[in-house]
Amino acid sequence: MKTKLEYLWIGGQDTGEIRNKTKVYEVKEDTTVDNLNSPTWGFDGSSTNQASGDSSDCVLQPVRNYLDPIRGGNNFIVLNEVNIPGGDHHVTNTRANLRHIAEKYVDKKFWFGIEQEYTFFKNGKPLGWPENGEPEVQGKYYCATGAGKVYGREIVEKHLDACMEAGIEISGINAEVMPGQWEYQIGAAGPLKVADDLIVARYLMNRIAEDYGVEVSLSAKPMKGDWNGAGAHTNFSTIGMREGTESFQDIISKLEDKHNEHISIYGVGIEERLTGLHETCRFDQFKSGVSDRGASVRVPWQVALNNKGYLEDRRPCADIDPYLVIAKIMETVAGD
Ligand code: ADP
Ligand code: MN
Ligand code: MN
Ligand code: MN
Repeated sequence: MKTKLEYLWIGGQDTGEIRNKTKVYEVKEDTTVDNLNSPTWGFDGSSTNQASGDSSDCVLQPVRNYLDPIRGGNNFIVLNEVNIPGGDHHVTNTRANLRHIAEKYVDKKFWFGIEQEYTFFKNGKPLGWPENGEPEVQGKYYCATGAGKVYGREIVEKHLDACMEAGIEISGINAEVMPGQWEYQIGAAGPLKVADDLIVARYLMNRIAEDYGVEVSLSAKPMKGDWNGAGAHTNFSTIGMREGTESFQDIISKLEDKHNEHISIYGVGIEERLTGLHETCRFDQFKSGVSDRGASVRVPWQVALNNKGYLEDRRPCADIDPYLVIAKIMETVAGD
């Protein structure tokens, strides 16, 4: 039978950019995500800022399959790494490095959980905002219900269902502090699975919102002024942290030592978001604390109580490359 495979890859033009195209493909009736043998494919890298026109071919190397909840039936989403002809990874292929890091520290049994915040836009304004001026000040919107408080729930619910159908490890959703802003959480799961699932979840969000004429912004600070920015808090643990045999203070010290290196890959416009206001610690300072949402790294209260569990790195912005960020945290935490 013929099926539709939606090939996804990360492009080279903007941060957080996902490209996709469809291959009609012959499969057996009993094909599943586990036995689907999706072929390598290619694209015109000169149209995605990944190659020059006279040497434009880039290679799509399938790395993980998902059920396609948009098309349903026996259709699949195929996530790819981008390679150059001949087999080497393309410079934009940050997943290749995470594969190596994940292998290097496999014994640490890292788990990650990423909180993806994002903002809906329509007609150049956050969804639900008045044509002129701004909505009432922040306070009543976070985790709210009701007209006048939340905007876009239909999209959010469809996205949650779609992620669950696809086989993504999505663990929750909530309305955020700024009206028109929402969050979903991916994980906890292993490094490659969480990063891959986040890319596919972002694709599904763009795809579903497209039907409503709504844009999905991953801007770190979509609205200037007294409005929360959008982050991608990255929660992590090793087996030692979960079992309480590893020192949390040592890990926090390592993160503090490498603060600037982390900030440099934690997203575009991080200075505008990490101001010290709106539940952040300034980008040029490092602070940790129990339950402290003004910290760079938060120790959840249950973790402080039991001396085991996980840490929340609150610094990453909404538009992060999850492969880069996860690899960096693993190297800092597990390295010497
Ligand atoms: P917040 O209170 O910061 O809004 P959320 O509930 O939105 O927290 O997100 C917490 C994230 O942390 C979830 O994705 C969850 O899966 C993840 N998480 C929980 N326990 C662990 C753990 N031991 N290791 C890594 N991530 C974890
Ligand atoms: Mn959250
Ligand atoms: Mn949040
Ligand atoms: Mn958080």
